[in-house]
Amino acid sequence: MSGASIIDGKAVAAQVRADIAGKVEALKSAHGFTPGLAVVLVGEDPASQVYVRNKGQQTKEVGMNSIEHKLPDTTSEAEILALVDSLNKDAGVHGILVQLPLPKHVNSEKVLNAIDPAKDVDGFHPVNVGRLWVGEPALAPCTPTGSLILAKSVQENLSGMNAVIIGRSNIVGKPMAALLLRENCTVTVAHSRTKDIQSVVKGADLVVAAVGIAEFVKGDWIKPGAIVIDVGINRVEVPGGKAKLKGDVAFAEAAAVAGAITPVPGGVGPMTIACLLKNTLQAAQMQHGLEITA
Ligand code: NAP
Repeated sequence: MSGASIIDGKAVAAQVRADIAGKVEALKSAHGFTPGLAVVLVGEDPASQVYVRNKGQQTKEVGMNSIEHKLPDTTSEAEILALVDSLNKDAGVHGILVQLPLPKHVNSEKVLNAIDPAKDVDGFHPVNVGRLWVGEPALAPCTPTGSLILAKSVQENLSGMNAVIIGRSNIVGKPMAALLLRENCTVTVAHSRTKDIQSVVKGADLVVAAVGIAEFVKGDWIKPGAIVIDVGINRVEVPGGKAKLKGDVAFAEAAAVAGAITPVPGGVGPMTIACLLKNTLQAAQMQHGLEITA
């Protein structure tokens, strides 16, 4: 029996998108411009194609312009850099997202670092990483931003909570740590070298799991009543059936102990694109010198 309340990521993401749609409409009528998001897709990776399609659709649904550049996987690094440069200069483009992974002959870091930090809606550029850590207005990575919104949907004030993040990647774990510090949590970042990780997690009022190992976090690691945010998306083969998506947390066990928990799918996943749109609105407001309401 589940004791935890289940955090509905789809519903929260829909609220975020509705809020953005209202603000985009207000921006159009008050200032006469429409925020634009450009997405660059290089190659034929099927998962990337699905992501890009969903991003384009949701961008249009909130009233923004969606600009898609689909290039063959033979495109050279120089050609991609030239496209990024032209998007940087295009006043109708407020956000630029280069879909990863890029083909092997392309240096991803070089391409991501070529994006104007003001348009870096993924929040991966070192300038935005630095701004996030020093507490300046920054475009923060979308998945941790979405995870924070979900945690705050359970408890608005996270101040003083012991937060344990499992994972220290640049796209999830590290920015999550910066965001939770900003919320005045006491933050611990655990990783593959952490000793006695079970005890570390047991002390957490808030757990964010971003490990990439299906059902890594067990129910008896969770402090009773804790908020559990499961970022993991792991495709697990089930005998005789199709692959199933599993999180990084053993959901049923953890839900019996936690106070609130995100499911997989339907938890953090839907928040990522919603936060990309939020970042695009924020980028547009910043570029026009307007108050940030995103
Ligand atoms: P990643 O770059 O592979 O990082 C995984 C982290 O987990 C690393 O810091 C690693 O530690 C740590 N780790 C690995 N094995 C461990 C162990 N046995 N004990 C403790 N820590 C361990 O992964 P990521 O990109 O952050 O993604 C994490 C998960 O989130 C994946 O399942 C991914 O699919 C999912 N994800 C979801 C979304 C979404 O939209 N919902 C977005 C991004 C990622 P070391 O640093 O020591 O190696």
